[in-house]
Amino acid sequence: MRDSSISFDSSEQHLPWYQTSIRKILEQLQVDPQLGLDQETAQQRLLVHGTNEIQEGKGRSQWKILLDQFQDIMLLMLIVVAIVSGVLDFTDLRNGGFESGSFPFKDTIAILAIVVINGVLGFVQESRAEKALAALKKMSSPKVRVLRDGRIQEIDGKMVVPGDIVFVEAGSQLCADGVLLEAANLQIRESALTGEATPVVKEVNVGGFTTEKSLGDRLNMVFTGTEVLKGRGKFVVTATAMATELGNIATMLQGVESEDTPLQKRMAQLGNVLVTGSIVIVVLVVVIGCWQVGNLSRLKELIEVSLSMAVAVVPEGLPAVITVTLAIGTQRMVKRNALIRKLPAVETLGSVDTICSDKTGTLTQNKMVVQEVETLDHAFRVTGNGYAPAGDFIRRGEAIAPQSDAALQQLLLGCLLCNDANLSQQEKEWQVIGDPTEGALLALAAKGHPHYTEMPKQWQRLGEFPFSSERKRMSVIGRNPQDTEGDEFVYELFCKGSPEIILARCLQYQTNSGIQKLEEGDRREILQRNEHLAQRGLRVLGFGYRRLAEIPTSQDDDTAEKDMVWLGLVGMLDAPRPEVRDAVVKCKAAGIRPIIITGDHPFTAKAIAQNLGIADANTKSLTGIELEKLSQPELETIVGDVSVYARVSPEHKLRIVQALQTNGRFVAMTGDGVNDAPALKKADIGIAMGITGTDVSKEASDMVLLDDNFTTIVAATEEGRVVFTNIRHFIQYILGSNVGEVLTIAAAPLLALPTVPLSPLQILWMNLVTDGVPALALAVEPAEPDVMERRPFSPQESIFARGLGFYIVRVGIVFAIITISLMMIAFNYPELGIDADSWKTMVFTTLCLSQMGHAIAARSRTRLTLELDFFRNPYLIWAVLGTTLLQLALIYIAPLRNFFETQLLTMTQLAICLGFSTLMFVWVELEKLLIRWFFSKRQQK
Ligand code: ATP
Repeated sequence: MRDSSISFDSSEQHLPWYQTSIRKILEQLQVDPQLGLDQETAQQRLLVHGTNEIQEGKGRSQWKILLDQFQDIMLLMLIVVAIVSGVLDFTDLRNGGFESGSFPFKDTIAILAIVVINGVLGFVQESRAEKALAALKKMSSPKVRVLRDGRIQEIDGKMVVPGDIVFVEAGSQLCADGVLLEAANLQIRESALTGEATPVVKEVNVGGFTTEKSLGDRLNMVFTGTEVLKGRGKFVVTATAMATELGNIATMLQGVESEDTPLQKRMAQLGNVLVTGSIVIVVLVVVIGCWQVGNLSRLKELIEVSLSMAVAVVPEGLPAVITVTLAIGTQRMVKRNALIRKLPAVETLGSVDTICSDKTGTLTQNKMVVQEVETLDHAFRVTGNGYAPAGDFIRRGEAIAPQSDAALQQLLLGCLLCNDANLSQQEKEWQVIGDPTEGALLALAAKGHPHYTEMPKQWQRLGEFPFSSERKRMSVIGRNPQDTEGDEFVYELFCKGSPEIILARCLQYQTNSGIQKLEEGDRREILQRNEHLAQRGLRVLGFGYRRLAEIPTSQDDDTAEKDMVWLGLVGMLDAPRPEVRDAVVKCKAAGIRPIIITGDHPFTAKAIAQNLGIADANTKSLTGIELEKLSQPELETIVGDVSVYARVSPEHKLRIVQALQTNGRFVAMTGDGVNDAPALKKADIGIAMGITGTDVSKEASDMVLLDDNFTTIVAATEEGRVVFTNIRHFIQYILGSNVGEVLTIAAAPLLALPTVPLSPLQILWMNLVTDGVPALALAVEPAEPDVMERRPFSPQESIFARGLGFYIVRVGIVFAIITISLMMIAFNYPELGIDADSWKTMVFTTLCLSQMGHAIAARSRTRLTLELDFFRNPYLIWAVLGTTLLQLALIYIAPLRNFFETQLLTMTQLAICLGFSTLMFVWVELEKLLIRWFFSKRQQK
């Protein structure tokens, strides 16, 4: 075992890493470049150097978070109300206006207490939200491919230690500093570190630089926090965590963002409207009141009325309920494998009406098995299971020895060499580390080459042109070990990729007996066979090769990858995910249009789309080439009809999103590659793949699919709708009651009643306890069964749309009618013996109890309470029971009675309150019946 306590502090070195030769670096870091570190050494180094995490900047201080809470305009208004109420009490006290036993400054203290509690609650929520986001960020921390114990393994980025050998490719985000051991067209964006946006081309420098270089010029090094835009590389880690360059400058890594959701923004606006409205009401009440009497004698009374109204208008409990609902939404989504990165997505997911999905891995299983190989001379069926390197090649019904066919042999060699994946057997099952497409090709090659693990070592890899979604191909250049020294063409380039592209770059083809010229007829036949395989839903790759006299440079891909010899087609099955079919049905019922956008062949895409129900035989499809010929306005006119986009590149995705959005669509789009980032950012909901996605795509997304599955998008959309529906439910519930309170208070002076029916303290009690607690329970209401059968909510649609605003006003009026009737009866029938104090308590109790009935009925806007499973939301039952008992406690427990200025009610009076309260429940249920009747009539017409 190596000495693990070795310190890699740069102060112990003579030269910085970038000036040191690779040999020395490996020596210093005590690592074998062929084997990597062993597990034990890595563990010990982890103890010495700690986990590889950048400690982020402090962000907002706790004090700042607390102070921010008191900037809410509604809370500021409450503070003003508290002060005015305090001044009134103070003058009363000075004038001896307080009765013995009564409690001066009660309203002031209560209101200020509410302000403080609200502030503290907000503070706790925000601190919790920050913690939750930090936890989410940890979950989305990148995975890294490292060489350990001679095997390539995938580990958590934070477990990387100095001396580890790490592999990176386009889309990787660097999580450690290191010196490059290999670089194939490696281009890295270092803007996070240097501020320079243009990518830096990195290269290996065996001896190290001889002169001093600034950070941006250390071309043989890679740094934490930067991103690979192109190519592939391998480096040895020299620094992790806070010892990295990024750690040194202690820049905060861009992470999960916490933003206000559209709803939170709208609620802030609502706050402004309510506060302005209440100021207007206060002024009106005072001015009209004084004008009626002609002097200021009623001023104090009018101010009291106004204060009560101001308190009644503010929905004190609402912000807390909204925060809780969104938090619960993210948790529910994570349980269904959707990780939310930006909070607004929780709510806006419910508005999605178009889902643009990749095919490979999202709609299909991404478990590839090669089924067919076709050279121009022969077709072979391939047997075997999964990625196991065992199976036969069947030609015309008989197993053949693959060595007997020269073209097949060369094609299998291409599969083996033009490949970056590895196969490993874990608990008897063969698994791929790397790209599943390449894993399948490796398994195929292994079936034809008994010594398949030896071949890549004998064929030294001397150059490569990596794969990208734009190029749709990749090549490697190796030296044939059997070539003799005198040969001119000692290097061979193997190229694989989309068959049309590879074929266009071939002039000849390989047969069993030699190389032949490719005639037009041959090309047609190859393309026909390609289409034939694609129509079966197979993913098809084409292969070619050529011999070279020199190793091309990394910029020469276009000239090197041409004049090739065609080898053949490989068709692999990537079966559709069975569960997606149901998800597609669900989507369509929910008014959501699924669209496939894939880099694959149009026939393969269409076959899969038809299999899953996304398209039928008549559905329009469009290829990347066709799309390029269309102007943006032309694309906008047809985008509504096309459900399959094939052979597209990432920049096409951006155009598609834009066209859909111009058509008023609210688009969720998936992406995994580094170049998908702009489309993901542009989409209303950008969705990255948790397993196969690059770090860059995750960084740009709003949501990450932990299982890469289309079904998860639909599940998240459903949860988004539940969140939105529940928010609407409790808003209608809370604001309906507020309107009722205001109208009740306003009615008192109009009916010439002697005093204000509700004190500010009682109103606060209602808004926070009797409204707030059941509202919280409504927030956790499970999904209604038809939530995915309604049309989606457009984000432009106001939260009060679809009748909600009207409902609030209507319910408010019903509340007021109930309480005003109660007041009228109490006054007009003195034989009932209800004195002034008792009827005030009755109004207060009736309002609170009506809200209980309202809460039960508000669970659904369309279905009767009797039709709902009563026990599905046990929280609501507890909330209603608990709040009713608390309300009774305010009347029947003496100290509380004194404090809240209520009156002991007789059983008859309580029964009257109960009777009036049930009217609210009855009304809401009757409304549902009326709405149903109205809609059925309309449908009949
Ligand atoms: P999707 O966009 O649905 O994920 P895809 O994997 O086919 O589908 P890309 O990754 O953009 O999309 O690949 C485009 C095409 O490039 C593929 O259809 C295939 O022909 C070719 N291709 C894919 N992977 C490789 C690879 N590792 N090497 C060479 N060519 C590849």
